Amino acid sequence: MTHPIADLEAFIDRHPRLLVLTGAGCSTDSGIPDYRDADGAWKRKPPVTFQAFTGNDTTRRRYWARSLVGWRYFGMAEPNATHRALARLEEHGKVSRLVTQNVDRLHQKAGSRDVVDLHGRLDIVRCLACRHSLGRDGFQAELEALNPDWVSLDALRAPDGDADLEGLDFDAFAIPPCPHCGGMLKPDVVFFGENIPRPWVDDAQAGLDAADAVLVVGSSLMVYSGYRIVLQAARRGLPVAALNLGRTRADELLSLKVEAPCGEGLAFLMN
Ligand SMILES: [Zn+2]
Repeated sequence: MTHPIADLEAFIDRHPRLLVLTGAGCSTDSGIPDYRDADGAWKRKPPVTFQAFTGNDTTRRRYWARSLVGWRYFGMAEPNATHRALARLEEHGKVSRLVTQNVDRLHQKAGSRDVVDLHGRLDIVRCLACRHSLGRDGFQAELEALNPDWVSLDALRAPDGDADLEGLDFDAFAIPPCPHCGGMLKPDVVFFGENIPRPWVDDAQAGLDAADAVLVVGSSLMVYSGYRIVLQAARRGLPVAALNLGRTRADELLSLKVEAPCGEGLAFLMN
């Protein structure tokens, strides 16, 4: 039941105000791995939960040790053809809002302006106590200065700026506290088990209110935040198209499904 790319082109032509919803499949060509396979199942160990991060000292140290290694490539990732095609779509006035589940800021780097980072952004670190925020690059320098022995480690890339480090003494890893109040710092992303801040949900909602259709790009919609947007669209009678390799949780709600790599599926936007 997959359609040819020409049908996607016609769908985009027919609907001048698209809410675009993007996921990990947009960023794999930028060297950022995704969590799920073509059936939407976990390819790897699920990410750390908010409860484990805040409640367990060793878990938190392991998170930041892996992140120290992972950030070296994640922080340098560049936009790919998919990000550029969607920025072009916005330039043509066809996007009511771009809502992304990605935390890599690559849509903004490619030139998209009206973006909702539904799951937050990894380039910012925030204090859980006083909400003070700092840039990840500066924080990275601090992490490296405090943990010189860890700087030379290399590991396999994992999603969300994570890296596969195991079997080390994580209790030896030092985490700097909030420079403002001494509180616990956390990347400014929504962890599993954590609620999405209300303003971000409202922002996505406003995009849907202004849309005449929804275009899903590179998401299996397994995470409820994205699935909910498609559910709402379907309830309002808005048509939904998806460009994704493999199945999505909302397949039965789609008006159009194209199974192709994101960059290939949107290449017509660059012509
Ligand atoms: Zn603080």
